[in-house]
Amino acid sequence: MDGNLQLKGAEVPFYLPDGDECDVFAAAYANGLPLLLKGPTGCGKTRFVAHMAAQLGRPLYTVACHDDLAAADLIGRYLLKGGETVWVDGPLTRAVREGAICYLDEVVEARKDVTVVLHPLTDDRRILPVDRTGEELEAAPGFMLVASYNPGYQNILKTLKPSTRQRFLSIEFDFPSPERETEIVATESRLDPERTARLVRLAGKLRALKGQDLEEGVSTRLLVYCATLIRQGMPVERAILAAMIEPLTDDEDVKRGLLDLVTAVFG
Ligand code: ADP
Repeated sequence: MDGNLQLKGAEVPFYLPDGDECDVFAAAYANGLPLLLKGPTGCGKTRFVAHMAAQLGRPLYTVACHDDLAAADLIGRYLLKGGETVWVDGPLTRAVREGAICYLDEVVEARKDVTVVLHPLTDDRRILPVDRTGEELEAAPGFMLVASYNPGYQNILKTLKPSTRQRFLSIEFDFPSPERETEIVATESRLDPERTARLVRLAGKLRALKGQDLEEGVSTRLLVYCATLIRQGMPVERAILAAMIEPLTDDEDVKRGLLDLVTAVFG
């Protein structure tokens, strides 16, 4: 079953805030309100949730949603164990029972029946009906539902319905400013700030091509990968090709164009 648990008392993962998002999260948590994080992939949403969960001392169940993920994967199912049929809670049910934070990453990817189970959890009843066991669980204190989605994908079928999104408080995420991104990437990779700043400058140029040659801009995650490879001794151009160019496009002409940008920044 999907989901992983971050234990109480674990170290607080590094997260560099952009503004007051930590305060908004803490206020949502304190009032038992669900929260939606909107933004492109790899810009820090998952790290933010891990940081806040540790900061608030709550266990965290993270579920990476995909198009085959059904409500039963979140709620639980009967499984055969040693000849006996036993009920096994899914990550959402566990979070509801324990008063944990449940993070549904890329929630729009999941099957439609997932939104149905989220609705009674996101209004003031905060209940989870578990039809298969006949239970109606009231969320334990400390339970919080967090979901994320990427509004950038231009897919009308993969967007959140207004009736669902209007149940969540929302925070918009975007790629960090160059100064912030340099600090993030340097901290994560331990590459020196000078070389990191150059990579960040290149990322800015690549992001400017979004919508023309590229569907998506390079993520902070890929920048961290690139800087990590360079710190470990890989030649800069090789690392950039592997971490910042190949992941973005399969088109040879576009790749050549991107490599010209690399020469302009690093040449
Ligand atoms: P998302 O969930 O938006 O796809 P992640 O949270 O997984 O993205 O971010 C990808 C990586 O980028 C993280 O593992 C972390 O290394 C880095 N990162 C991005 N933003 C931040 C931030 N504000 N503070 C610390 N690390 C960050």
